Amino acid sequence: TGTLYLVPTPIGNLDDMTFRAVKTLKAVDLIAAEDTRNTQKLLNHFEIETKQISFHEHNTQARIPELLERLKQGESIAQVSDAGMPSISDPGKELVKAAIDAEIPVVPLPGANAALTALIASGIEPQPFMFYGFLPRKASEQRTALQALAEARQAVIFYESPYRVAKTLTTIREIFGERQAVLARELTKKFEEFIRGSLSDLIDYATASARGEFVIIVAPGEKKVPTPSEVPIDSQVQTQIDAG
Ligand code: SAM
Repeated sequence: TGTLYLVPTPIGNLDDMTFRAVKTLKAVDLIAAEDTRNTQKLLNHFEIETKQISFHEHNTQARIPELLERLKQGESIAQVSDAGMPSISDPGKELVKAAIDAEIPVVPLPGANAALTALIASGIEPQPFMFYGFLPRKASEQRTALQALAEARQAVIFYESPYRVAKTLTTIREIFGERQAVLARELTKKFEEFIRGSLSDLIDYATASARGEFVIIVAPGEKKVPTPSEVPIDSQVQTQIDAG
């Protein structure tokens, strides 16, 4: 059988393409791309002549049997999305599962990814973190999702479009309360920028102007100090004994 390679592509800076990514895309029989026109520009830049087939959220189920068949016949396939890691808020995961089920080797390449790139320069404690990706768009579902995240003591990473970033930050503040947060804007590009501050600061920024691509990282909440009446009786006694 062939191999399914998962190949990350740059998130804004072509120099972030790895040597191995170029080699792999040259060597495979076929590239399954989220948007073949977009990927063609990348292929032209790196003089890669491999044929492409479209593989995106609207044709995933239709394409999988065909791609599996080709893999079983011994062809190797590289899957790419428009930017960054396949499967991370992008197409790919269904093909990975199908390949694993069919016992076809799956080989991931490391490379560009917006979430981790933002996290390492955010200044927010990076462990533990939770990568959420895009919140649901429907207001009620968005709230439910945020409520489930509100209590955990971890950094939370969201992706969001520039059109919704101010509104989403406002809903996050409403449900999480005031917290420290970071907007990582236009990563790896000319106008890369980190906006660090409270959620309220970031809401002011995003309301004034929000152009480009954004990652939102929200710091863990402060540890809630229980008021005396919330402390279980046993441990109140214990505290008195310790203090005693
Ligand atoms: N697969 C990609 C990855 O590995 O990061 C993510 C694709 S997702 C469809 C696109 C979202 O990722 C954007 O809406 C934005 O939140 C984030 N993103 C992608 N590129 C970015 C960049 N250069 N700067 C900041 N955020 C970016």
